[in-house]
Amino acid sequence: MSSYRSNNEPCCRVVILIYNKVVFELIMDFLFPKFCVGCGEYGSDLCKKCFAEMSFSEQICPECGKESMMGWTHLRCKTAKGMDGLIVIYDHQDRVVQKTIENIKFGFNRDMVREVLRGFSFESGEKFDMLVPVPLHFYRENWRGFNQAEEIALAVSENICVPVERVLKRTKKTKQQSLLSNRKDREKNVRGVFEIDRKYKSMLRGKKILLVDDVFTSGADMRECTRVLRGSGATVVWGLALAH
Ligand SMILES: [Zn+2]
Ligand SMILES: [Zn+2]
Repeated sequence: MSSYRSNNEPCCRVVILIYNKVVFELIMDFLFPKFCVGCGEYGSDLCKKCFAEMSFSEQICPECGKESMMGWTHLRCKTAKGMDGLIVIYDHQDRVVQKTIENIKFGFNRDMVREVLRGFSFESGEKFDMLVPVPLHFYRENWRGFNQAEEIALAVSENICVPVERVLKRTKKTKQQSLLSNRKDREKNVRGVFEIDRKYKSMLRGKKILLVDDVFTSGADMRECTRVLRGSGATVVWGLALAH
């Protein structure tokens, strides 16, 4: 009798767990119903139709911002401390893409990050050692407990089986880049604000790194992160942004 009971207990526990999860999800759905950011349809944050219709971005050179095949940095734009290339997924002019990113950023929506990166993978010709999120200043990150770049990196990491390493820290509070209109001011604003976390200092020599951020606008943040990573011996630095 006792062996009969002990064999079945784990099974019962699984059934109870599944039951609790279903009940929990039903309650959450009732309290916080989900509506598509694109068309408002009830059921999910981003319905299948709107997801399928999101516009992809053209690929650009991360140094000059002009069109480039597969996001490679133009030969004429290459520098010793610069980026090797950039992968951009969606077109930020697309209204649904904008809404999706706002929802991730201001709604702290981790599920949405996974929704929007469903099945995403890419080919850059490099085998990366790590994904490195562009850090937010700790005031901003602590207030929200959420860095969208890190969430994107974690979701991509699951798809391509490359680990996420929090190599970079932001040391100073800067003006929000979106408040500065020209490229020179944006570059100046982020100059010297990133540093390598102490525990990674001796680990970056020869490493191939994929920097991750939500939106690539002027690219000043990514280029400054690249300069710092190169200074610690990284040999390849590409960027990945959800949108441009
Ligand atoms: Zn929709
Ligand atoms: Zn270029």
